[in-house]
Amino acid sequence: MPANGGVFTYWLPEGAVEPGRRVLVPLGRRTATGVVLGPARSVRGELRDVLRVLDEQPLLPPDVLQLVRWAAAHYLAPLGLAVRVALPPGIDLREELRGALTPDGDALLDGVQRALLPGGQEAATRTRQLLRAVREGRALRAAQLRALEKRGLVSLSTSEARPRVQAPQVELAAAVPGAQPPARSPRQAEVLAWLLARDPVGVPVEELLAAFPGARPHLRKLAARRLVALRTEPAGAARLPDAPWGSAVVRETAAQSAALVELRAALDARAYAPFLLDGVTGSGKTHVYLEAIAHARAQGRGALALVPEIALTPQLAGRFRARFGDDVAVLHSGLTERERLSEWHRVRGGGAGVVVGARSAVFAPVRDLGIVVVDEEHEPSYKQEDRLRYHARDLALVRARDAGAVAVLGSATPSLETLRRAQDGRLRTLRLPERVDGRALPAVEIVDRKTTLRGRGDPALLTPALSEALQKTAARGEQAILFLNKRGHVRSLLCRSCGAAVGCPNCSVALVLHRASGAALRCHLCGHEEVPRPCAACGSDDLVPLSAGTERVEEELRALLPQARVARLDRDSAGGPGKAAALLARFARRELDVLIGTQMVAKGHDFPGVTLVGALDADGPLHLPDFRAAERCVQLLAQVAGRAGRGEQPGRVLMQAFRTTEPAVVAAAAHDYHGFARGEMARREALSFPPHARLCALRLQGNVEARVQAAAERLAGRARELQRRGGDRVDVLGPAPAPIARLRGKHRFQLLLRAPEHGPIHRLCRALGEVPLPSGVELAADVDPVALL
Ligand code: ADP
Ligand code: ZN
Ligand code: ZN
Repeated sequence: MPANGGVFTYWLPEGAVEPGRRVLVPLGRRTATGVVLGPARSVRGELRDVLRVLDEQPLLPPDVLQLVRWAAAHYLAPLGLAVRVALPPGIDLREELRGALTPDGDALLDGVQRALLPGGQEAATRTRQLLRAVREGRALRAAQLRALEKRGLVSLSTSEARPRVQAPQVELAAAVPGAQPPARSPRQAEVLAWLLARDPVGVPVEELLAAFPGARPHLRKLAARRLVALRTEPAGAARLPDAPWGSAVVRETAAQSAALVELRAALDARAYAPFLLDGVTGSGKTHVYLEAIAHARAQGRGALALVPEIALTPQLAGRFRARFGDDVAVLHSGLTERERLSEWHRVRGGGAGVVVGARSAVFAPVRDLGIVVVDEEHEPSYKQEDRLRYHARDLALVRARDAGAVAVLGSATPSLETLRRAQDGRLRTLRLPERVDGRALPAVEIVDRKTTLRGRGDPALLTPALSEALQKTAARGEQAILFLNKRGHVRSLLCRSCGAAVGCPNCSVALVLHRASGAALRCHLCGHEEVPRPCAACGSDDLVPLSAGTERVEEELRALLPQARVARLDRDSAGGPGKAAALLARFARRELDVLIGTQMVAKGHDFPGVTLVGALDADGPLHLPDFRAAERCVQLLAQVAGRAGRGEQPGRVLMQAFRTTEPAVVAAAAHDYHGFARGEMARREALSFPPHARLCALRLQGNVEARVQAAAERLAGRARELQRRGGDRVDVLGPAPAPIARLRGKHRFQLLLRAPEHGPIHRLCRALGEVPLPSGVELAADVDPVALL
């Protein structure tokens, strides 16, 4: 399993072993860990021996290996790479080459035998440097060590390197019990009071600094005065951010019971049965997951629950813990490698029968799988965007099918792919049409943002209506969430009079403004280019470039409500998942009044204090140059709106939009996702986009733009030629510069392959794999792409 994921053949001196066990093998001049895939079908040349078989039991059970094979074939990735993705990080062992000086080496280094040295003064100096490094035990490359060995200066031995998992450290601060606040320093007193109210064992300093930015010096002074104790220790075991577990269900709703009757029957039948659990926000989907899983456990079968992002949805994982205790293993990115590895081994060994995890948990070695749940199945984060570009929801269905298990895809806003499967009868639909407590969904008002376009300069992000609502909410001491989907890299051109963004005539996506190339507008699906022309919707030629970001909102809000405690939550501000969870926990404790953020604020949080939700740029996601922009937009808005009014006070949602009559916005405001989905399904069919067709994006990137473009054109040309000759019908769209045309210094182009089925796309891609690429240009295939950026 080298980095590029190749598959190699070795001789097993001790005879065949089961697939899935790891072996130590020579690879070039190194040793590497590999996973046995099975007997080779044909052998060329002389085989090298496997050095050692590492596991007693296959590390990857047969069903996971089968899923890995399927994924590698479907997503056009090397098998070895797929195997690597399925293993938990930090599991591979490597052998380290160690060198020791021979007597000759010693003599040379100590300057006794200069005569030994060929090749002049410079080479001599270099050799002595290397020998000194060996003597001091510093790391050298294997090739350097072997060269020294050849000259008799060093002797080599191998030793097994420790797995490269090191527990990270966490810095904790604890108030000394009974500490008196220093009278002269109000800031220190504030920090101390905060700590005194917290866990006496200690609070992560990171969390404290999130509450008191810049308080590090105060903390140091408090420690010097012996009022606060600081210490560092290994980060704890499978910790979850603290969160209430959620109330136990006393009486099931009729809809929940009906869904469970079907799910239990399907489990009893012990055959593949996929379901869509279509339930509005707050309809009690989690209870259905938990009880269906409990039934599978009672049968002695295992369960897998995928969630989009555990660190941001601690409540859900908490409910699994509350229901199943130690039978739950949680796999999430907030854990250290060592913690994840130990959870993984617990699952592999049968010590945990229920796995809750993010997308990579679809490969978790759950025993005798009975049920797979995918919560919020529409979430784009189920798609992995590098290495093996898999979609965890789709793999979950494949895994359930192969295991003869029940699959439950849950969502309030199912993806069109899933709705299409349900229409075709490939999924059974279970509905939870109402909120459990009989509470209404919040009232939503659409606010026209065009009023803010009147002045010159960048338009304000807060409309007068929302500003006023914010002031009132703050005056009542209630909380608010402001949502703005960041789209910093894409600037579009907006019509001041009707609010429409200038769109592509061929693809019905927004054109993107490229300042580098004059004022050209470009389509990132088909490559269409134009200079700004009057608005196609209303004829006005008063166009204004628009960009916005959460930082801008924060500034405007601080000016509007100077007293309010405001925090911003997005990938830039959050840092690690721990920080995001800490911020959310503070908001839940009502230590903050307004939370501004990207979709991170829209997850399944349950904040009863929130009575106002503002979507600042409700139609903004529509500007994304992606055919799924409208679908994504409604899904986000539905989720954001679902945060309001979950407590005693009714909630109010304001959706600010330029295009107030867009179906996506209107549907979200009316809580009518399915009405939207019907229209959108027809539009996709008309444009031949998924779910009515299959796509594969071929992405090329490199340092020299002209080379990348030439390679993309050659590839597209070859693809079209193959289509003309062969019988397959695959549309080749593009090439066009990718919407993010330059990323980390690389120029990017993409072309899209489109066909009714995957077969022709797979065949074409395999044929295109033979096309030589110029050096310095990389090609990646993305089958069933989610992000077309
Ligand atoms: P969803 O995932 O559908 O948005 P949740 O599963 O989070 O909804 O449920 C919302 C809230 O309703 C939770 O606090 C949950 O404990 C509670 N709940 C679920 N089912 C019932 C029920 N039958 N009766 C009362 N409360 C319930
Ligand atoms: Zn217009
Ligand atoms: Zn286009």
